[in-house]
Amino acid sequence: MHDELLEYLSDAVRGIADWEASWEPFERHPSLAIPHGALQDALARYIERLRGNYPFFHPRYAGQMLKPPHPVAALGYLAAMLINPNNHALDGGPPTSAMEKEVVASLTSLFGFPSDALGHLTSSGTIANLEALWVARELHPGKAIAYSRDAHYTHERMCAVLGVEGRAVPATARGEMDVSVLEQELRAGTVGTVVATAGTTGSGALDDIGAIADLCNEHGARVHVDAAYGGFFRLLRHSDVLTQPTAERLGAIERCDSVVVDPHKHGLQPYGCGAILFRDASVGRFYKHDSPYTYFTSDELHLGEISLECSRAGAAAGALWLTLQVLPLEADRGLGPVLAATRTAATTFARLLDQHPDFGLLREPALDIVAFFPHARHASEVDRLSASLFANLMNDADDPIFLSVLKVDSRLLEKQGVEADVATTRILRSVLMKPEHEREVLHLMSRLDDQLRATSRGGSK
Ligand SMILES: *Cc1c(COP(=O)(O)O)cnc(C)c1O
Repeated sequence: MHDELLEYLSDAVRGIADWEASWEPFERHPSLAIPHGALQDALARYIERLRGNYPFFHPRYAGQMLKPPHPVAALGYLAAMLINPNNHALDGGPPTSAMEKEVVASLTSLFGFPSDALGHLTSSGTIANLEALWVARELHPGKAIAYSRDAHYTHERMCAVLGVEGRAVPATARGEMDVSVLEQELRAGTVGTVVATAGTTGSGALDDIGAIADLCNEHGARVHVDAAYGGFFRLLRHSDVLTQPTAERLGAIERCDSVVVDPHKHGLQPYGCGAILFRDASVGRFYKHDSPYTYFTSDELHLGEISLECSRAGAAAGALWLTLQVLPLEADRGLGPVLAATRTAATTFARLLDQHPDFGLLREPALDIVAFFPHARHASEVDRLSASLFANLMNDADDPIFLSVLKVDSRLLEKQGVEADVATTRILRSVLMKPEHEREVLHLMSRLDDQLRATSRGGSK
């Protein structure tokens, strides 16, 4: 995995060093020197501490939305980081600012937005969504922002930050915003913006974006799509690894007003890379401000003029740019086959679970997240079994498997014969976001099978 990194690491560092050497030599200040041997020791302790992480890189790890960046992104980030450009202003980093505009153009075309759409990278999906909701508030002052109860908790929190009423619309058993309830809300005329989610963080479900866009169109409301997790799957909308409804929902993003996607989730990037796009570039007026000290080199648009954040890593834009040179946003090469493999992993794993007498699926996965549970008569027993499976699998020193736990409304399990004797139930969740998960799911299933037998036999450890 690190072969590519080791092969090109010195090229990247030397390339930057050569550029520096083209300037007249100067002496580094002695205060920056480190005592001989000090780094060797500190670095060894540092690496030792980093070994305390869960193995996010390994197919055994299917717990949270976590994986290392592609080595190409690491190289891209490192090379730019040695210069440390700041994409807040053009003069903070002309080349990486230009690269940011290029990658934003690629994202614009991925989502089918007009080429003059306004967009920029952010340091996270949280900030990108905050900007979308802030613009929504400016355009519909005094009106509420509606989102599904299964939407990311950031929307409720950011509504509070913005002083806007947030309205949680119930979700259906499929984990999708209940569009009939939304329609009533829109009819009442108090909702100005609807947040549709393309890939919920819990189970990867997609709201019916097309239906939401139609309703909002009819009632004069805005639609913002939170595609932080699922946005890149739009690449596969013409391939058969997605179901028709999922493909259509991803397709409908192009009819919405704004969209957020996180290259640091499914775009192979290290943390520090989210993105926001607005269909109507004129919303740039809300960002208008005058800075006495930054923008001086040109009349061209500075990214800092259209973002809420000030300093922002030019290296994040550089890393994404370099990645897209070799792994472009295409269905049959580049990022497409990576995502297709994660999707195959999920459908295969879901089929294995569905066929297993002792496990059940919360629902068919729409993307690469599979939520499932060990069968039992009562929800309290499902909860207890899930919690011990989760812990026992993770703590098995010889053959560990890392999953996560998802708390759901117990009524969701009723139609599978589980009696809801408690209000909420912990079930299991696997995020199969690495292409290597495609081959790992058989092992995953057999470990679950073994562990469930051991757990049922011995009670919870
Ligand atoms: C991850 C995620 C967020 C938050 O984004 P960060 O990059 O973690 O700040 C928001 N919405 C959804 C759907 C997400 O999956």
